[in-house]
Amino acid sequence: MAAKQTDAIATPASYDPLLENYPGAGWQLPDSYWSATTDIAADSGVLSQQEAADVAIIGGGYTGLATAYYLAKTFNLSCVVLEANQAGWGCSGRNGGFALKAGGRMGYQAMINRFGLAGAQAMFNETFAGLRRLRELIDDERIDCEPQADGHLWVAHKPAMMETAKSEAELLKRAFGYETELLSSEALAQRYFKSPEAAGALRFPDGFGLHPMKLMQGYVQMAMRQGIKLYRASPVIHWESVEGRHVLHTPQGSVTAAKVVCATNGYTSPKLHKGLTNRTFPVLSNVLVTAPLSDAQLAETGFKTNQIITDTRTLRYYYRKLPDNRILIGGRSAITGKDALNPRHDEMLVDSLQRKFPALEQIGIDYKWGGWVCVTYDDLPHVGQLPDDSSVFYAMGYGGSGVSFSLQAGWRLAQQIAGDKEVPPLPFYNQPLKKFPFAPFRRMGQRMLYQYFHLRDEYK
Ligand SMILES: Cc1cc2nc3c(=O)[nH]c(=O)nc-3n(C[C@H](O)[C@H](O)[C@H](O)COP(=O)(O)OP(=O)(O)OC[C@H]3O[C@@H](n4cnc5c(N)ncnc54)[C@H](O)[C@@H]3O)c2cc1C
Repeated sequence: MAAKQTDAIATPASYDPLLENYPGAGWQLPDSYWSATTDIAADSGVLSQQEAADVAIIGGGYTGLATAYYLAKTFNLSCVVLEANQAGWGCSGRNGGFALKAGGRMGYQAMINRFGLAGAQAMFNETFAGLRRLRELIDDERIDCEPQADGHLWVAHKPAMMETAKSEAELLKRAFGYETELLSSEALAQRYFKSPEAAGALRFPDGFGLHPMKLMQGYVQMAMRQGIKLYRASPVIHWESVEGRHVLHTPQGSVTAAKVVCATNGYTSPKLHKGLTNRTFPVLSNVLVTAPLSDAQLAETGFKTNQIITDTRTLRYYYRKLPDNRILIGGRSAITGKDALNPRHDEMLVDSLQRKFPALEQIGIDYKWGGWVCVTYDDLPHVGQLPDDSSVFYAMGYGGSGVSFSLQAGWRLAQQIAGDKEVPPLPFYNQPLKKFPFAPFRRMGQRMLYQYFHLRDEYK
């Protein structure tokens, strides 16, 4: 099964969201394991006329389609989704497929320090609701996206990190009544997998792996069943206001709407809307998928699990065994689009794979790709309205944990747009995206932090 990409144009490898006005117009899906194993669902084609809708949504990833789905299904509003390339071209078709009980990058202790225990508990419950919502949606809408059994192993990459894992387990129990399980390196090897780097692990009972591009196609089909128009190869290249309504222009058409949603996340151009400029930071992450493991390699690595795995590094690696016995591993990459094709970034991932699993020294790498994760100044996702234009909405900044939270964000955003008062007063929803101070120097800061975190992760 291969994705059909008949009219698509190759994506320039050096694409950089901070430098471009929009991501492309009909660019191909990345050459990923996900696109190679997905049948692409039908959309509404390229926009080549004038359209009108209650809500126009920019961005055809999980956020855009989840928002459209709830707006149409629950609130009976008409929606048009404009996607520059095709649904899932952004992070939603590039991620590792880890459905996590998380949203954003802020740790639980930081949440408690910042918002108090009750505030942190409410945020904890909201991210949990996102994960549950995703499982339920997959079941209810019968989305064939290979959901795996629950379980997330947080692996101590050196003995000292077992203390950190222990404190996290205590914090989760004390603050949220959440039970986890500490595993020695022997228990990890006996029950899950063997790795000379693993000093043990903390196992969270929740979180699961899935096929992200098949999930995306499930979203497309759900949207089409609701009568939503989803246009591919239709980037918003010009945005104007005419008689109090928004008019979004694409290369061949336009959409007029009372409300607009920016669901562009890590692919948000600084030029899209001035209310969003310098309020998000795109950070590149790379993924590799190996050839299927042979029986001997399976025996040597002792893999008995398809549960999702991350390590305790600040610059963490995420990895898992896919249902067809390949290993997927991802981690940080280049800082700029220009440097994205430098082979040293993939070499770093291969090196990490081999340190974790020396038995895979000779294994072939069948697929590699990358994508732009969206980071915010306060490490939290934000879902809401622009302060100086209440008819423009956004949901972004999941910081590498958006597979489940984007669905919850889509639901909350649809509620806000429809004027439903039931949105809980959480910082995700009632605090705006903050501007990065010294925005032009963000990448310089990122470079320095990468060096510092690398030294701390590996040598301290
Ligand atoms: C390599 C990688 C691995 C990841 N792994 C995980 C993981 O395992 N678990 C997890 O929870 N999260 C993960 N994430 C993050 C997760 O994939 C994202 O948070 C999530 O997919 C965001 O969905 P979205 O719909 O908000 O944005 P996207 O899916 O990025 O969609 C944004 C879309 O907007 C479009 N767009 C931008 N500008 C315009 C315009 N002007 N006109 C029209 N369209 C436009 C883009 O083409 C793009 O398709 C990962 C991300 C990456 C890059």
